[in-house]
Amino acid sequence: MTDLHRLSIRELSEGLKTAQFSSRELTEHYLKRIAHIDPKVKSYVTVTAEQALAEADAADAALKSGNAHALAGIPLAHKDIFCTQGIKTTAGSKMLDNFISPYDATVVAKAKAAGLVTLGKVNMDEFAMGSTSENSYVGATSNPWALDHVPGGSSGGSAAAVAADLAPIATGTDTGGSIRQPASFCGLTGLKPTYGRVSRFGMIAYASSLDQGGPMARSAEDCAYLMNVIAGHDAKDSTSINKEVDDYVANLNGTAVKGLRIGIPKQYFNVAGLDADVKARVEESLKKLEEMGAILVEIDLNMTEAYVPTYYLIAPAEASSNLSRFDGVRYGYRCENPVDLMDLYKRSRSEGFGAEVQRRILIGTYALSAGYYDAYYVKAQKVRRLIQQDFLKAFENVDVIAAPSAPTTAYKIGANLSPTEMYLGDIYTLAVNLAGLPAINAPVGFDKDSLPVGLQLIGNYWSESQLLSIVHQYQQNTDWHTKRAAIAEENA
Ligand code: GLN
Repeated sequence: MTDLHRLSIRELSEGLKTAQFSSRELTEHYLKRIAHIDPKVKSYVTVTAEQALAEADAADAALKSGNAHALAGIPLAHKDIFCTQGIKTTAGSKMLDNFISPYDATVVAKAKAAGLVTLGKVNMDEFAMGSTSENSYVGATSNPWALDHVPGGSSGGSAAAVAADLAPIATGTDTGGSIRQPASFCGLTGLKPTYGRVSRFGMIAYASSLDQGGPMARSAEDCAYLMNVIAGHDAKDSTSINKEVDDYVANLNGTAVKGLRIGIPKQYFNVAGLDADVKARVEESLKKLEEMGAILVEIDLNMTEAYVPTYYLIAPAEASSNLSRFDGVRYGYRCENPVDLMDLYKRSRSEGFGAEVQRRILIGTYALSAGYYDAYYVKAQKVRRLIQQDFLKAFENVDVIAAPSAPTTAYKIGANLSPTEMYLGDIYTLAVNLAGLPAINAPVGFDKDSLPVGLQLIGNYWSESQLLSIVHQYQQNTDWHTKRAAIAEENA
């Protein structure tokens, strides 16, 4: 079969179960596509062909015996922030260029236990800091829809790999939008779960109170399949919540769109810098949901202006602490010929970290230093609570909240925005992480340059099933999620 890469996760699962094709054939098909097409997209940092084929054979044996998991034998790609035993995990940084983890992240272990086949590790902004994936030490990844554009970030490799049909599904992480924004830029569906739903164990930490892993795929249905595998309590992550996990696939039609109250925050649609095409596509998608029976309700989210400054204080503060472990002694990069311990620290960190990571370590260290701690960090924590309360108040009156995922479509590679311009592009995604809420991106059309536009739906805590269900039903009534970039149509 030449078009195995066009099948959904449900179709792949059925095809494998009924032996229409084997996991080995499917895996070889994807490896061949990666070899032929990825040199143009550059989504993979590491391709694990040998291991993938061994995992595929094991899955085929399990499928033959008849007691395989629903996803056994289906390939996936992991963001290079998830630790993988025996395979390099770089987090997009020279600092970890030679780092091989002695253990698997829980997300990786769960995927393996379900029989999913790891194709490899995909590119990202260094330590997940960025919105373009250009901050990776291995270089930029291309957006499959326009190769001179970025795929977004930080999970840009995950988004590009799926959008170019170089993996049917991928894992991503979202600290301030890194699943939703690249999903938006690449025309995919991506879910950022409630904080505590997916284990952070073995996921290299950026800002621990905000970080959350989740699925990136073509459709809500495909995301639901991967969520069923990766969600759940993990004693190895102290912030993991011990709460029953929904069957996200079984619930795909579980939420009534008829009568669903969708909040439209006034402030969100008046943001300076909101592209006219993005606004139009998002409004059209809301109109469609209205036709399907939803009720649009204008709401206020008065803290909107505080999102960017609050996040860009708290996230760097936590990052400066988390990244102190990379000191040239225990992990990763070590400078040549240090003259003493201080020199070893200084040069290893200056040479091992890229410019954006260093910028954030400096901002974070400053904000946490004696004398500034109360003025900046403590104040930001108080504002964070107000942002959360703003959402909780809104959820008293609406079921979900709608927004763009990003004010623009994908930037050109090398656009070289200033840090503040870049940070302002995160306006629609940051608050969700500050409040610990779940949110999803769904593709809803294209701008005048044929670049994808995304709709974001934000839910109350633990509403992952609801978000997936709403998007699934939207996708049953529209075909944006079925559109393929030209490069994905190429055969290997
Ligand atoms: N773009 C945001 C940042 O640079 C979010 C990144 C993320 O979610 N990891 O911090």
